[in-house]
Amino acid sequence: MASLNPGLGTPAGSDLRRASREQLERIPLLLRGRLGHFVDGASQVPRAGRYRRIVDPATELTIAEAAEGSAEDVDVAVASARMAFERSNWRRLRPADRERMLCALSELVRTNGEELSALETLQGGKLRSVARRIDVEGGAEFVRYMAGWATKLEGQTIDNSIRIPGRQWVTFTRREPVGVVAAIVPWNFPLAIALWKVAPALAAGCTVVLKPSAETPLTALRLAELAIEAGFPAGALNVVTGGAEVGAALAAHPQVRRISFTGSTEAGKRVGHSAIENLARFTLELGGKSPAIVLDDADLDEAAEGICGGIFLHQGQVCTASSRLLVQRRVRDRLLGRLVRAARALRIGSGFDPDTQLGPLVSAHHFERVMRAIERGRLDGATLATGGVRAGEAGWFVEPTIFVDDSARTSVSREEVFGPVLTATTFDDVDEAVRLANDTRYGLAASVWTRSLSAAHRIVPRLDAGIVWVNSHNVLDNALPFGGMRQSGVGHDLGRASVESFTELKSVCMAV
Ligand code: NAD
Repeated sequence: MASLNPGLGTPAGSDLRRASREQLERIPLLLRGRLGHFVDGASQVPRAGRYRRIVDPATELTIAEAAEGSAEDVDVAVASARMAFERSNWRRLRPADRERMLCALSELVRTNGEELSALETLQGGKLRSVARRIDVEGGAEFVRYMAGWATKLEGQTIDNSIRIPGRQWVTFTRREPVGVVAAIVPWNFPLAIALWKVAPALAAGCTVVLKPSAETPLTALRLAELAIEAGFPAGALNVVTGGAEVGAALAAHPQVRRISFTGSTEAGKRVGHSAIENLARFTLELGGKSPAIVLDDADLDEAAEGICGGIFLHQGQVCTASSRLLVQRRVRDRLLGRLVRAARALRIGSGFDPDTQLGPLVSAHHFERVMRAIERGRLDGATLATGGVRAGEAGWFVEPTIFVDDSARTSVSREEVFGPVLTATTFDDVDEAVRLANDTRYGLAASVWTRSLSAAHRIVPRLDAGIVWVNSHNVLDNALPFGGMRQSGVGHDLGRASVESFTELKSVCMAV
């Protein structure tokens, strides 16, 4: 396979795109050659000596090689996190010191934003503008938000009714850091989702072993370096790179006390089993098949724009993507017309091109998966309104795709595709819309589009979803807990609920 990276020693091909090569040369991380794990404050070669190629999905060219970890590497990283957790200087850190370090980290994410966003575009195909806005700016703001919680974790003084004569009793609770945290994250928002886990864990006084996705390890490695620059001691944030095997070893490690996982429902269940085995605390943020319900009084231009953004943002590789349109019969044709026109108008290309609106899928493997889902949808009887084919010849681009499926029974309507694929189903009344919306194993997100405040209020409580948007889709806030119901997960990222989930509640009962 051709390589863009002179640091790897493979001769760069003559057909390489100039733009990509220039991008690469401005990213110091990539010029170091092979990348090791980041453990105990320094880069470490993988014990088994194996590396994996990291490929730019827009060009199919190798941009880096990152360590392919093993259970041994995981042992070393967990030991480092454990030692850092036990070290007296970490334990003695005042909450205000953790806050200061997290503020510094937030600032470093921002000031290194050009490099971090370029890495996201190179390794994952994400539009540069999306990487800047969500992974970098959003990530930095989230770290600052979590910095504030470091000084605001508190227990309660509780009046008690203990009846033991001759003594008085003081009872209260404390929130204490749970210990070593395993953070296992997917490839779609590698930096943002890593920060969703790392920042609350550090704010609560835990130490972390972060396992990024095998396809997208680069920003996690850079983040660990920035944490050292921000003042965190060696071992507070470790990164072990590699695939499912590394994730499984980390999730099963007996010294890991808390697992924060984001990924597919299938892998999440395996992680949950490992967590139960060790009685480690865990949260699972999993897949989704989120409905967007459009009532016939909705502002159709607004709905079309919101749903288009909801399904085509990052090529549909978003857990909360509005992948199931449920539209009331009277407005169906008008809305579908708008959506098909908008989909066809999207400019497809490299994430580095500022005019691009739809980039490539993350990998060849994922591209095949999405194309298979489209093919199955067709065979099952869903009608293609637009797209459904590969775009271009190099890179893993798929045309924005819309299916009409009034049965709502085809695989493409029911299974998470995690690509730029929308299915549209018609309903006649609100009861039918709610039934269709809830007819899924998932329960991550939903949106309702209506001008009627009372219709919105009546529908929201009936939807089985962890987050419901009204007249919008994919809008998150750092303070608003984010998590799924049913097979979409357990527990929450973001908000107070998240940082508290990295603590143990200790009760103290004092005879005085
Ligand atoms: P994935 O489950 O294949 O991998 C996620 C992470 O888990 C990766 O780091 C992977 O190496 C690791 N992993 C895989 N198998 C493992 C195992 N048995 N034990 C431990 N770790 C394991 O998911 P993906 O393809 O990287 O990401 C796409 C999925 O993530 C989609 O289903 C999407 O909906 C979901 N997702 C959910 C959210 C959310 O917040 N709910 C956010 C983003 C993505």
